Amino acid sequence: MLKLDFHPAGRHFLQIPGPSPVPDRILRAMSYPTIDHRGPEFGALGLKVLDGIKKIFKTSQPVVIYPASGTGAWEAALCNTLSPGDTVLMYETGHFATLWKKMAESLGLKPEFLGLPGIEGWRRGVQADMIEKRLRDDAQGVIKAVCVVHNETSTGVTSDIAAVRRAIDSAKHPALLMVDTISGLASADYRHDEWGVDVTVSGSQKGLMLPPGISFNAVSEKAREASKHARLPRAFWDWTEIVEMNKQGYWPYTPNTNLLYGLSEALDMILGEGLDNVFARHQRLAAACRAAVTAWGLEIQCADPAVYSPVLTGVMTPEGVDADAVRKLIYEHFDMSLGTGLGKAKGRMFRIGHLGDCNDLTLMAALTGCEMGLRLAGIELKGSGVAAAMDYLTSNVAKPALKAAA
Ligand code: PLP
Repeated sequence: MLKLDFHPAGRHFLQIPGPSPVPDRILRAMSYPTIDHRGPEFGALGLKVLDGIKKIFKTSQPVVIYPASGTGAWEAALCNTLSPGDTVLMYETGHFATLWKKMAESLGLKPEFLGLPGIEGWRRGVQADMIEKRLRDDAQGVIKAVCVVHNETSTGVTSDIAAVRRAIDSAKHPALLMVDTISGLASADYRHDEWGVDVTVSGSQKGLMLPPGISFNAVSEKAREASKHARLPRAFWDWTEIVEMNKQGYWPYTPNTNLLYGLSEALDMILGEGLDNVFARHQRLAAACRAAVTAWGLEIQCADPAVYSPVLTGVMTPEGVDADAVRKLIYEHFDMSLGTGLGKAKGRMFRIGHLGDCNDLTLMAALTGCEMGLRLAGIELKGSGVAAAMDYLTSNVAKPALKAAA
């Protein structure tokens, strides 16, 4: 058993696709003294974060912040808008889409699960034409909502949400569109209003660079209208009173004060860098990571280059090699955590997170740890992924961050 007070020398490399490393600036902000959540200072903080977070979702509509993990915000999206027995069309992109579907079942909804068969469906994004076809067949309007995952964290595949919107519109179907971008927000381009999303679900511990503990529902006018007639039981998750009190910067219960200090700092960091620059940084690091995987001669879990995730890369180990054994070696020898394969992909892949507070050298160190671990595991590599990633990063140089700030 590992002693909890044992820390090896140097920094632990947390390269899982969330929780992502929390920058010192945010850790310091979270250490401010906890204040009265009914006092004037808190109201100012509340208004600042409630306004700032809208810019990240690209919405002018309310964003509800819960003191809960992403799973809570999943439940909130469903129970605020739907009634017992409602049919929801969900799409299987991977493990998290599967968990959301299981939750819908436990809440008494009737999910229909679309997707490509077998593991193939876990290597591609949402097929919007399948959604359109199913909705066209539903002339009675039995389907009340379409639920998709924007960035499937279990595989490293991002889906085209604008295409899902177009599919619903082409079928002239009234279903609500609900999107989980728990691991996509603030790393991959996301547009709640422009894409006509009714409820967007997200969390704190990924692109926002915060610890786990707060989560979000961005809510359209149509979703709030639906909530007036939705009969699934809800109390804590109910949007109505929260949205009303949020107008003054407060919550109907005790909010997560210190995480909100952290959120305020994260917003300053992200909006200060500029959302487009943040997205470009993620794309560039992801491309360098893929260059490494290809140079090793290993396969990337995402089989469609159009939907490679900028957040993480899923790396498939050769047939017969247990990916978790490789991860264990890397953890034990190099103090680096990589994401495990989940569900159908268990043992077949590991996941490298390159999200949030990540730069060229963070990625290079992570890839070095992977390459050393793959060698230790006795896997024959085609070539050096580290050299390939260095080549990519030096031939696609980013704007010098320090010079830009001077
Ligand atoms: N959805 C996605 C895409 C996720 O990546 C996660 C967690 O990693 C969840 C849902 C569940 O969120 P949480 O673990 O914060 O409850």
